[in-house]
Amino acid sequence: MMSPTTYIVFALTLTSAMISVIFFLAYKTLGEKPYALSWSVAFLAATCQWSINLMAPRFSSFEAYWLTASAFALVVVTLGLRGHCQRTDCQRLPQNLWPYAALVFGAIVWTTIFRPHTGLRTAIVPGIAAITLFMSAAMVLRHRDKPRPAEWAAAITMILFGLVQFTAAGVAMLQGADGIDAYRDLYMHFNFLTLPAGYTGMAMFVIFMLASDLSEEMKSIAVRDQLTGLFNRRGFGEQAAIAYASARRTGNAISVIMSDIDRFKEVNDEFGHAVGDSALCHFANLLMAGRRTEDILARMGGEEFLLVLPGADLAAAIKIADDLCVCVARTPMAAEGETLTITASFGVATISRKDTCLTNIVVRADKALYRSKRAGRNRVDLESSQKLRNPDGTLKPISA
Ligand code: GH3
Ligand code: MG
Ligand code: MG
Repeated sequence: MMSPTTYIVFALTLTSAMISVIFFLAYKTLGEKPYALSWSVAFLAATCQWSINLMAPRFSSFEAYWLTASAFALVVVTLGLRGHCQRTDCQRLPQNLWPYAALVFGAIVWTTIFRPHTGLRTAIVPGIAAITLFMSAAMVLRHRDKPRPAEWAAAITMILFGLVQFTAAGVAMLQGADGIDAYRDLYMHFNFLTLPAGYTGMAMFVIFMLASDLSEEMKSIAVRDQLTGLFNRRGFGEQAAIAYASARRTGNAISVIMSDIDRFKEVNDEFGHAVGDSALCHFANLLMAGRRTEDILARMGGEEFLLVLPGADLAAAIKIADDLCVCVARTPMAAEGETLTITASFGVATISRKDTCLTNIVVRADKALYRSKRAGRNRVDLESSQKLRNPDGTLKPISA
């Protein structure tokens, strides 16, 4: 019969190996995210760490065993933290964490060989693990304004596991320099009681966080236009419904600007599809510049874009459309060594009492756009309200 501790270490070895494989499969199948690979290698190092633990009697000396196992434990901790840095794009920590890991390893060598201190050499790894777990939890919670449920779950698990590791380090320190047997036993009991659940629990919650990353990415792909990154028709529908309901509830104005690049087919024919694509991005960027966070910009298809302006009345929306029309015509873009200037036509409409949904306003903006095309393009037209037009059909300046 092996000792119960050996069974637990054996279970930890197998579990770490399986988690490493799961993270590697996640890396391969979920778009080769570098942090999934870091975590896979971290759990591979954990597998080595526990195997070394099982092979302890085969080492020539206790020091050789202790330093090898500690080196692998530091690789686990460093790669775990590195993975969270990569995932949250954290700029506060240095890219290269290995010099710090080497420094900690130096401290373990010092307390194992040069100035043997049982308490210290045992406490270093759980102490560092606790600190990196707290740092990882902070990164997960701070990298977006509203963390997702999976991120809360992973961060809370990390904090709990960090507290456990911190306590383990404290108990280890009680052993003192020479190692008091009673505290050594207490440390072993505490560690092997908490490690299996802490290890697997943390890994599972991090995998859950990875799955939630993927689901968010899928959601974003479903509602965003791949070329310009703007909302597509579907994404627009969801956002617009919210904006329209809010305008109805509060009694605030809401306006719509429909725009379409002029003679875009000629851009494609003359410069090719790739330049056409660049022109679409160029146009999208001009429409996006200066927009407020509540404004909704969507590519409705081809070279047709829609801008929803919550809180803007007809006059404010016409002013924005006028400015955009002038801005587009005055901002050339580079195309195959030449400069290309595009123009666009705009149609503006605002909410009325008869409207039952935002589509009613969009339909009127579309009609206005059609009129500005017929009137010669590179201009703004508005829904049937004629108050803001001169007798010759041109728009009065809004300031007039
Ligand atoms: P008008 O001034 O009347 O709007 O003329 P137009 O040439 O812009 O309009 P038309 O609808 O005839 O042509 C739109 C063109 O947009 C045709 C299509 O090939 C092109 N187009 C649609 N989607 C894309 C795209 O994603 N990339 C590129 N490069 N071209 C696109
Ligand atoms: Mg067009
Ligand atoms: Mg069109």
